[in-house]
Amino acid sequence: MAATCRTCSGSGVVEIGERMIECECALVRRMAASMPAYVRRADVRKEHLDLPIMGMTRRNALVVASWQDMKAVVKAVIIANQRMFIKVTSDREIRDVYVGSKSRAARGDDEGQIYNSLEDLMDPPALMVVRMNELSYKNKAAPGALEEAICYRMDREKPTWLFSDLDKPFSLGSHAWSESVAEVIRSNFVTVRLARILPPASFDQEAESVGLTGVTSAQSRDTPTAEPATAAESIPEPERVEPVRPKKVIRPSEDDEGPLSKYGAGLSKKPSSKGSSFGRGR
Ligand SMILES: [Zn+2]
Repeated sequence: MAATCRTCSGSGVVEIGERMIECECALVRRMAASMPAYVRRADVRKEHLDLPIMGMTRRNALVVASWQDMKAVVKAVIIANQRMFIKVTSDREIRDVYVGSKSRAARGDDEGQIYNSLEDLMDPPALMVVRMNELSYKNKAAPGALEEAICYRMDREKPTWLFSDLDKPFSLGSHAWSESVAEVIRSNFVTVRLARILPPASFDQEAESVGLTGVTSAQSRDTPTAEPATAAESIPEPERVEPVRPKKVIRPSEDDEGPLSKYGAGLSKKPSSKGSSFGRGR
């Protein structure tokens, strides 16, 4: 680990005149902590920095993008807004925290969890990014937990970005989807669609091997990495690429009536005729 900061002697704050302000070292720690490894390693291109979503950190948005691009956007946004606490969570984490808090309340037991309530999870970030469709199996509590989490932020006028994967949109077949969640999103979130910029996930390895740096300096956003760009140009993007998600084997549930969703969610309800799904429409 790094040696003790010479500016603040490790206290994390520095005195400027009458005021105590956060030391640069604390800022970097906070940024890194809010950035999961997969975001730190993301390949940020100039095109990402030019996206209108970069300036939407105070708005609620449903961002429909490829996961590769979303990671890049989140990284760029965190670096561009260093004094803003930006966190990435998921419908799965929200469900886990929600269910965990309920069962703990019943048991009166308080150990082993980082977040004791939905409020602990949802309240602190200035901007919360929620990865939708991270839940890999059906769960009764999930749509309610997601709705509560979204509404918690809305009630306090704190911005949230809901991320819906271009390759696996949050829609009727999603485990945290409900008509009610869909309605909340439809009436409170602007939909922002990002055309694919980075090649699909299967090219991750090539991208990383051309030498991507971690989150070391804010300057990195001013100097787009030229080599990966060149490498990417030479790789033609295939028409159709199956998303590579080896860890996720989603089984249709017993009440599956057929392939309503190619992601295998079993559905007991018929899809409603008015387009109530996200991500596929135009
Ligand atoms: Zn310091």
